[in-house]
Amino acid sequence: MKRAIVVGSGPAGSTVARLLAKSGNYHVLILEKGRNYFTGLGGPTNKIGNLFSNDEIGWESRRSPITQDPLLEPRSFRTGPGAGKRTFVGDVNSLPTAVGGGTIHYDAKARRFREVDFITNSLMGGTPDKPAIPGTTYADWAMEYRHLEPFYAVMEEIVGVQGPARRVGRKIVNPNPYESWRSTPFAMPPGVAQLNSLLPSEAASRLGYHPAPVPTSINSRPYRGRPACVDCGFCLHYGCPNNAKGGGIWQLHDALRTGRAELRSEVNVVRVEHARGRGGRFRATGVTYMTPDGRTHTERADLVVLANSPIEAARLSFVSGIGQGHPNEKKISSAQPSDTDPSGLLGRNLMFHLQTTVLAVVNQDIHSFRGRTSTHTLDAFVGAGPSAKEFDPAVPRGGILEIGGNLNPVVEASEVAAFAYGARHKEYMQLGPFHKRLTTFTMQGEDMPQITNYVDLDPDIVDVYGVPVPRVSYQSHPYELAASAYYTPLMLAIMDAIGGPGSSYPSVRTLAALAINTTLPPALPGSIDAGVQQILSATPFNEIPASAHIMGTHRAALSPAHGPCDPYGRYWAFDNLYHAGGGLFATAPGYNVTLTIWALAYVVGAAIVSGVGGRRAYSKADVDRGQRRLLDVIRRLDGDTMIARALR
Ligand SMILES: Cc1cc2nc3c(=O)[nH]c(=O)nc-3n(C[C@H](O)[C@H](O)[C@H](O)COP(=O)(O)OP(=O)(O)OC[C@H]3O[C@@H](n4cnc5c(N)ncnc54)[C@H](O)[C@@H]3O)c2cc1C
Ligand code: SF4
Repeated sequence: MKRAIVVGSGPAGSTVARLLAKSGNYHVLILEKGRNYFTGLGGPTNKIGNLFSNDEIGWESRRSPITQDPLLEPRSFRTGPGAGKRTFVGDVNSLPTAVGGGTIHYDAKARRFREVDFITNSLMGGTPDKPAIPGTTYADWAMEYRHLEPFYAVMEEIVGVQGPARRVGRKIVNPNPYESWRSTPFAMPPGVAQLNSLLPSEAASRLGYHPAPVPTSINSRPYRGRPACVDCGFCLHYGCPNNAKGGGIWQLHDALRTGRAELRSEVNVVRVEHARGRGGRFRATGVTYMTPDGRTHTERADLVVLANSPIEAARLSFVSGIGQGHPNEKKISSAQPSDTDPSGLLGRNLMFHLQTTVLAVVNQDIHSFRGRTSTHTLDAFVGAGPSAKEFDPAVPRGGILEIGGNLNPVVEASEVAAFAYGARHKEYMQLGPFHKRLTTFTMQGEDMPQITNYVDLDPDIVDVYGVPVPRVSYQSHPYELAASAYYTPLMLAIMDAIGGPGSSYPSVRTLAALAINTTLPPALPGSIDAGVQQILSATPFNEIPASAHIMGTHRAALSPAHGPCDPYGRYWAFDNLYHAGGGLFATAPGYNVTLTIWALAYVVGAAIVSGVGGRRAYSKADVDRGQRRLLDVIRRLDGDTMIARALR
């Protein structure tokens, strides 16, 4: 049996590990830097315990136990080489570090991209070598929606996604008109709606838009041995005490139950071992990791998958001598190929969503903090679509609106303590503008890929393990700033239309609505007091993107000229080294990213177990030809799903 190593146990790593272990051809070692907060993983039943209950105040007053500590493992940031070596050191888009990765504490919106999102560059008149939007590296994806659709479907069932599309006779009826076609309904119907999502949704409907319940990987009823959500109100930023949240954990459980997978937590992989073969091609031979006592260990493998998130996978490659960890800054607008990365693009085209938030405070208690963070979405501002025939390049590409949002009482009480104590604190909390009366829109705005937005190794700073930290060089492109400015007044108009006479909620009205954009005056960080900078870095008011949707350092492309990985996630110069995760995205459509990460990770795993891939370059016809064997993997390893039955 072959040995595979998967670095990272988040959604991407757990999905690949599950497929490799289920295939029967691999023994999989999953190496995870964070702690394991679950008991019973891999046991004979679905009775999994966790350590999340009744500690909400602790999670707020201490640093979250699952988030990377920016003092021990910082990242550095600058807008680009012109800003000096760095302008900030600390928390730069750090994702959680725990068994299960970022799905432990996320709020689980599980969105598909649309048909147009994979081919926007050509719909706008661009070509692979001439992007449609100047100053960007805008490109079509190596795969299209029709290729990914079955993988979206299978992952929705494996993870357990609730949503409104349902089967009526032979048809799938979807109340969200902005979404693309689907071959299966959601695994579960939507759960209970929240008032702070319903109020703006109702206002939007009166203005002619079509909001809908948001697909979410949270059980609305018992599913695959796990209970339904009880809308406890401590969802975003917290582990789920009753295991209703879908995430990487359940795929890990499946993998471990095969008896062909092993999970090691609290181990930090510090190097990918590799060697050059006769034909000049490279092979990963294993990895070296460090345990908390500071010792290093090397494990050998036939296959290595880096699923430790786009920034960390690029950093781990660089510290292992793969790609250019210290690119020539004077030539940063060009690719810088090397033997290990013939594309010269590893770490480039880093993308985050540009989040534009609109807040509204209403005149009465709408118990904003109860339930899941957001139960509805409005997709009207994501750009024209969903199919090519509805595409209009003149419509700005913004993003979905997550409707709802809140601060929970614990967070609000601790924030208010900064300026009000004793009786004043109590009065403020009784009013509770942010946990009782708030509703928000968060637009996940599409971010343009740029070759000059990238990860490399900081030349001076190392983390507590002695490993060079990743440095992020990033600046927003004028396109997404303009799209944000275009849609903000439309969002404010919806908030202003909440409640009042003629609505379903006549007694409710908006007291104040305001917009917050995560883009900021270019003067911040670097030109202000260091203490103030620390505070600002934790808010949206700085130029470090606030979004935790991280994409693009390992673009999957049809040829090495256009991205570091092939369509199936393999590093071009290697026979057996893969990336799984958001790094593979060619563009950053304005939707939550994790369902697409899941679907692509399934593709990566299916390609490995079915032997698809391995070419020096691909045509679109090659991708079409590989599809049949990828779909066989769904039929064989997930034959109990609706999509497997539909594919027969
Ligand atoms: C507050 C918040 C809310 C979010 N909400 C949503 C949402 O509603 N919907 C959505 O789609 N997405 C959401 N996301 C984003 C989502 O969490 C990520 O897209 C997702 O977790 C990425 O999956 P991944 O497997 O690629 O990486 P990760 O989940 O980041 O997993 C990577 C794992 O690798 C480990 N690792 C890193 N380096 C090493 C190393 N050297 N050695 C060993 N292990 C290593 C890390 O500890 C981590 O556990 C949210 C994120 C945050 C922070
Ligand atoms: S709201 Fe539901 S899914 Fe979220 S933590 Fe509470 S019980 Fe779990």
